[in-house]
Amino acid sequence: MKYTVLTLFPEITDAFFANSIMAKAIKRGIIEYQAINIRDFANDKHKTCDDAPYGGGPGMLMLPEPLSLAINSALAGKTANAAGKKPRVIYLSPSGRQFNQELARELSAEHELILICGRYEGIDQRIIDRYVDDEISIGDYVLSSGEVAALAIIDATYRLVDSVICAESLDEESFSGGLLEYPQFTRPEVFDTMKVPEILLSGHHEQIRLWRLERRIEKTLRQRPELIQRGREMGLFNKEINGIIDRMVRSGDSSCDKIEGEKDERNSGN
Ligand code: SAM
Repeated sequence: MKYTVLTLFPEITDAFFANSIMAKAIKRGIIEYQAINIRDFANDKHKTCDDAPYGGGPGMLMLPEPLSLAINSALAGKTANAAGKKPRVIYLSPSGRQFNQELARELSAEHELILICGRYEGIDQRIIDRYVDDEISIGDYVLSSGEVAALAIIDATYRLVDSVICAESLDEESFSGGLLEYPQFTRPEVFDTMKVPEILLSGHHEQIRLWRLERRIEKTLRQRPELIQRGREMGLFNKEINGIIDRMVRSGDSSCDKIEGEKDERNSGN
């Protein structure tokens, strides 16, 4: 996977690629990184990259010319790789499709991501229309620039690229299989009078597996009930998981309105 970041401040993203797991992935040749400084493509002596918006209004917009030259340089000679895939061009934007683990998985399978970081009031719409495959938002709030958003996407995706980290440690992470992660404990066995759950000290693998699965379901029902609803709709859960959900909902172990709704339907015999 190659990440090409188009930015006015490459030093912000450069720092991330020097961190330990990422640095190792780069050394092993699994990840590649290139920062392109959009200012290098400005054509006046002041290296101007912004101007006022047509129609008036507050703030400045990034100029289309330097940005299009920067994008063209990132795309040069890359209409498609050996597998027939061209780089996917992403503009980080609060108006974009909301980023989540599912999208992170989808993007982690790409050959190259070109990430355009906006500044000021954003970029000229014609750049989006001409070059951008996806506008992606990292949440319903406005950041002052796209670099932090680009790093969130890079961080969530590179660790999913084959052999960056051990596949087993991804299996039971939050959102995998539609559930949140189970609670975790490490030494000491008693911390400030709070004891580690007995079952985790038992060495009984099957009972530990079941306890963890139940805690994942319980936590998801309590903290993110909509994930359970969605997992059901998408058929993500096996018979065992569905059975545990039903049992918890029946015993009133959940605060999920929608799931409670299912219970009401069952009770009314519909
Ligand atoms: N005027 C824009 C608006 O109202 O939608 C906000 C521009 S923001 C101050 C500057 C840049 O930060 C954007 O061009 C974008 O690249 C980035 N940005 C801000 N919030 C973001 C978010 N939630 N997700 C992704 N990128 C964001």
